[in-house]
Amino acid sequence: MFLNETTKRFEIGGVDVLQLTQDYDTPLFVYDSAKIEAQYSKMKNALKKVKKVKINYACKALTNITILRLLKNLGSGLDAVSYQEIRLGLEAGFDPKDIIYTPNSVSIEELEACMKLGVKVNIDNIETLEYMGMNHPNHPLCIRINPHIMAGGHAKISVGHIDSKFGISIHQMPLVERLVDTLNIQIEGVHMHTGSDILDVDVFSHAAALLFNVARKFDNLKYIDFGSGFKVKYKENDIETNMEDFGNMMSERFNAFCEETGKDLTLAFEPGKFLVSEAGYFLARTNVIKQTTSAVFAGLDTGFNHMIRPMFYGAHHHIMNISNPLGKPKIYTVVGYICETDTFGWNRKINEIKEGDILCFKNAGAYCFSMASNYNSRYRPAEVLIHKGAAHLIRKRESFEDLLYNQTDPQLDFNSEKAGNS
Ligand SMILES: *Cc1c(COP(=O)(O)O)cnc(C)c1O
Repeated sequence: MFLNETTKRFEIGGVDVLQLTQDYDTPLFVYDSAKIEAQYSKMKNALKKVKKVKINYACKALTNITILRLLKNLGSGLDAVSYQEIRLGLEAGFDPKDIIYTPNSVSIEELEACMKLGVKVNIDNIETLEYMGMNHPNHPLCIRINPHIMAGGHAKISVGHIDSKFGISIHQMPLVERLVDTLNIQIEGVHMHTGSDILDVDVFSHAAALLFNVARKFDNLKYIDFGSGFKVKYKENDIETNMEDFGNMMSERFNAFCEETGKDLTLAFEPGKFLVSEAGYFLARTNVIKQTTSAVFAGLDTGFNHMIRPMFYGAHHHIMNISNPLGKPKIYTVVGYICETDTFGWNRKINEIKEGDILCFKNAGAYCFSMASNYNSRYRPAEVLIHKGAAHLIRKRESFEDLLYNQTDPQLDFNSEKAGNS
C-alpha cells in the first residue's frame, strides 16, 4: 500500500483503497496477490542452492480458496492441520501428495479419513505412530520431533519447549526407533516446527542440527521439513527473519548433510505468516470518537470478533487513518464495538480521526480472517483480492441468514403453564 502523491489517496496494487470501502463496505479484508508472490519468490530464491526444495503453505493462516489456488499456481504445497483444511486444499486443486497433514490431538477416525484422501501424514505422538505401524504398515510417514528449543515470540505461540503438547520429544527417539524397527514402519520425513516467531538464525540453526541427527537414523528418508517460524515486521523497528542469511545458512547445512550421508533429500518448509501476513490489510470505519478523562478513543465497526491477535497474543498491528493521510498526528486508543474490552492499540499516533474515517490495519493477512468469529452476532467481513490491478471479491460479507443457517427449530412449547401458576 502506498500513498499516490498526485491524488493523496492510498493504493494497493494500483487500486484505490477508499474506493474499495465504498464498493464492498466495511469492515473489509483486502489481500494483495503480488505481495504473496513476492514473498514466495523471496523464499525460493534464498534456497536456490538446494536442488530439491518444497514450500508447503501453512494454510491455517488464511484459508480462502482463492488464496489457496494462488499458492498452488506458484508451485507451493500445503500444510494442513485438519481434515477440513485438507478438503479445502483438494477443492483448490492441490494434489493429495502435495498436502502434508500435521495434526495434534485429533481422533483416530479423523486420521483414518485423512489417510483415505491420500495425503502425507505427519505423526506427533508415539501412540499414534504405534497405531499406524500396526494398522497401516506400508504407509510412509513423517514424524514431528520436538527439539525443545524455546524460540522467540509470545509464550502462546512457542511450541518447541519442554511443556509443549506438540511433537515427539527428541528424548524419546530410542523408543521411536524401536517401534520403527519392530513394526517395519517407513519413515519418509522428519519434521519440526519450533514456534511462531524466530528472530535469530542461530537459534534455528541449533534446532536444525538436532533434526539432522534424527534424520540420520532413517534409511528411506525423502525429506526434512523444518516447519516455520519466520518473522515478519509488524512495526517500524521490528526485527524480521533475514531470509537471505537464513537461506544461505540452511542451504549450506542441508547440502553438506546430503553429501555427508549420501541421501538425496528434499528440503521442506511450511510458512504461513511469512507468505501472507504483509499481503493483508484490514479496513474498518470509525463509528465514534470518545474523549474520557484519560484517553481519546476511536471506536470502530469491528472488534476481536474479526481480528483477535491484538487481544489474544498482544500482537501489534500498525494502524493508519487512510481517510486523512495528511492530517495532524494525535494520540488515540483504538477499540472495537464488542461488549467486552477489545483494544486494538493503546496510545497510537494516528493522523487526526473523525467519525466515518477509514482506519487500516496492516499485517492482516495471517491469522486474522481465519480466526474470525460471529461473537456478538456480527457478520464476518468480506474478503477482496487485488490481482493484476483489479479488485475481486473472494468472499461475500455474511448476512442475517448465515447466523441462523445451522440453527434448527424443534418447535418447543415454551408457553405451557406450570401447575400452580396462576
Ligand atoms: C501454524 C503452523 C505453521 C505456520 O507458522 P507461521 O508462523 O504462520 O509461519 C507451520 N507448521 C505448522 C505445523 C503449524 O502448525
